[in-house]
Amino acid sequence: MNKPFVYLIGAGPGDPGLITVRGRECLERSDVVLYDYLANHQLLKSAPPHAELIYAGKVGGAHNREQGQINDLIVAKALEGKIVARLKGGDPFVFGRGGEECEALVAAGIPFEIVPGVTAGIGAAAYAGIPLTHRDVTTSVAFVTGHEHPDKENSEIDWEKLSLGSGTVVFYMGVRNLPQITANLMAHGRSPSTPVALVRWGTRPEQEVLTGTLADIGEQARKVSFKPPAITIVGEVVRLRETLRWFDNRPLSGVGVLVTRSADQAGEFTSLLKDQGATVHDCPTISIVPSEVTTELDGAIATLPSYDWLILTSVNAVNYFFQRLTASNLDSRAIGRCMVAAVGPKTAEAIRTHGIIPDLVPADYKAEGVVAALRELGMRGKKILYPQGDRARDIIRRELTTLGAEVVAPVAYRNVLPDGIPPHIMEALEKKKIQCATFTASSTVRNLAELVGENRLLHLLEGVTIAAIGPVTAASCRELGLEVHIHPEQYTLEKMTEALVTHFSG
Ligand code: SAH
Repeated sequence: MNKPFVYLIGAGPGDPGLITVRGRECLERSDVVLYDYLANHQLLKSAPPHAELIYAGKVGGAHNREQGQINDLIVAKALEGKIVARLKGGDPFVFGRGGEECEALVAAGIPFEIVPGVTAGIGAAAYAGIPLTHRDVTTSVAFVTGHEHPDKENSEIDWEKLSLGSGTVVFYMGVRNLPQITANLMAHGRSPSTPVALVRWGTRPEQEVLTGTLADIGEQARKVSFKPPAITIVGEVVRLRETLRWFDNRPLSGVGVLVTRSADQAGEFTSLLKDQGATVHDCPTISIVPSEVTTELDGAIATLPSYDWLILTSVNAVNYFFQRLTASNLDSRAIGRCMVAAVGPKTAEAIRTHGIIPDLVPADYKAEGVVAALRELGMRGKKILYPQGDRARDIIRRELTTLGAEVVAPVAYRNVLPDGIPPHIMEALEKKKIQCATFTASSTVRNLAELVGENRLLHLLEGVTIAAIGPVTAASCRELGLEVHIHPEQYTLEKMTEALVTHFSG
């Protein structure tokens, strides 16, 4: 049996980029992850595939599991000889009951490590553009629970100390008790005109900020039914947001964008959109699966030394080629003297991870670019292996054959319709949380129509801005009855993102 070990990891306030390097490392080596409501669930992707993922969440005081049960579970899982990652929102030792969990570990004699995290008070304040201290404004900051029962006779909070002076006060879990909190501060001497900010879901794309004063924030929050989870920042520093606001006023802030590319291709577009502030809803309309028929590719792999060139045009091609190589009980050495051509920098990078430096990476990323580059090198009599997707255009095989090469082009992977649309995406569409749907290929819009039904598609996308890359994709949208509002002049993801920015800031 392996030795038990527990990592108590701060997941950071919400933006998955705000977990620490150490936190991610520990997640990557865990066998069990016990995660909270406030820990961004996207971080679970860092856990190894075999890891058991257990939700131990608490939603606004409604405990999914009681704390004692959580402690017992952590101990029990560790005693099975497992590495347990206890992933908690923000920092584990700031209102996170991490102290109690650690005590349980000590009592059970289980070794542990604590990985601090960016606590919500710090993360959400930064993303709201509010420095918690400022040389000219305030020199101290207090983190206070706002969860204490308002009718509690002997409050453990020293309201007088908090109220006097100019220190910034950050309340956690304080939304429900906001009227009592503000009343207490004013009753103990804070000026009613002290600025206050509520930051909900800080550091996430859906971050909401409400500002006011001690006198009116309670009423304002009530009017808009401001909901947890949020921190409440009280102090003069809140005024600095007017100047320092940066996160929730980006061009696509508050715009929900549907991305319909396949999961393995969406990353680049998603980060371009997120950089502009968009809330991205990933809805892959294409799944990539390995080809069931592998005889042709396996046959070619068995005779690799007879080939002059191996052409890999996508990361998928790299992955599935090497998968078959491994399945044949071979490794990169089997490629031997065969030259390797890669289309695009991502593909080249994927090839490098297998210890092979591509011999040719044409400047032009398209099939035409490879053909042009290879033509220069002379193709007559050359033997070429070109593992491809089932929907690849026939350009490479056809052109190189014309140039006198012998091209073996087995189908290595297939594009198929996914099983369905993720339920949370359906919900976002129904609740009109998506303002813009993007289509980067005809197949994306056709597949979406097939997945939800044509009529339903029109209904779901009613009032939604449609963006399409390229005239063919736009035509496919129109055929399905969709009006296309955004079509960039150049057919790249960067230009598409720019076009969205222009549209939504216009
Ligand atoms: N350990 C956590 C705090 C847990 S207490 C940390 O260090 O951040 C739960 C409270 O944290 C919530 O009620 C809310 O006040 C605050 N909180 C957590 N994540 C938040 C976020 N993304 N935005 C605003 N407040 C958040």
